Amino acid sequence: MSIQWFPGHMHLTRKAIGQRIKDIDVVIELLDARLPASSANPLLAELTEGRPTLKVLNKQDLADAARTPAWLDWYNARPGTRAIALDASDTAPARRLIEGCRQLAPTRRGMARPMRVLIVGVPNVGKSTLINTLSARREARTGDEAGITRQEQRIVLDDDFYLWDTPGMLWPRIVVPESGERLAASGAVGRNAYDEEEVAMALLAYLKQHYAALLVARYKLARPEAEIAALHDDELLDLIARKRGAVMSGGRLNLQKAAEIVLTDLRSGSIGRVTLETPDEYAAWLAAAHEREAERAERRAEQRKRDERRARRTGE
Ligand code: GDP
Repeated sequence: MSIQWFPGHMHLTRKAIGQRIKDIDVVIELLDARLPASSANPLLAELTEGRPTLKVLNKQDLADAARTPAWLDWYNARPGTRAIALDASDTAPARRLIEGCRQLAPTRRGMARPMRVLIVGVPNVGKSTLINTLSARREARTGDEAGITRQEQRIVLDDDFYLWDTPGMLWPRIVVPESGERLAASGAVGRNAYDEEEVAMALLAYLKQHYAALLVARYKLARPEAEIAALHDDELLDLIARKRGAVMSGGRLNLQKAAEIVLTDLRSGSIGRVTLETPDEYAAWLAAAHEREAERAERRAEQRKRDERRARRTGE
């Protein structure tokens, strides 16, 4: 599945981070608690020159409460990293953010050595909402669509604690196709960049394996969970289309509409609390992607050798 990114926007973000990072002690990376690894930027450590990082698993209210602790443990086990879970219902998140950052850079205290923090996150992860709460002003624009650009802004969280916000961030390339599907499903990617039917089917393929009961309840499927899990992905989308009356004149199913329903339901939390990946699953996807990449490199090298041999033969 191809996903079209916004390289211009991303270039701007990289530049903004590059300019700011010299004066930064800790980076707060906002992640989507439903897809923590997929919503991370694989280049972040490089961009932030290895600064200690507080991973904030945001929108935890939408994530599977049984899975979030596993992700927090996974991040907390990494050097220079702390992790907390958060959502917009927390009306005073500053205390927890300050606490997390202080653990990562305990020597930054007092007016002479204030804590300087940069907050980054992929579009739609809830950064503007959090910044609004932190700054207690309805200033940053929030919205469902990815890619709203903002100017850099500084928020004073405490006398000796400054937070800098950068414009939204995007990937140079998706390392793992499964991440692309999850990012699109979560709304982190602009709507024109992907095919909604494909994304909805990929989403359903995962949900039917791990959250069949939620699908049965949401779409009144009236079938045993095991039966739902055994359906082909397109059969499941067909079933949902029929249940939701997504039918065109002549009786043909409107799969585009069914896909939109499923994606909207996921984003609003109407399907229920789900987490679309575990640390082990992500590790397996990454390993498979690296293997595919190595195979491709090998095939390219072999092709080059064949071309060289042919060139030598025809040159003789
Ligand atoms: P940004 O692109 O990262 O700045 O994201 P926004 O702050 O604009 O938020 C994107 C969407 O997610 C908006 O519809 C918000 O209302 C919603 N949102 C933000 N934070 C949360 C949260 O913690 N929980 C839930 N359920 N929705 C959130």
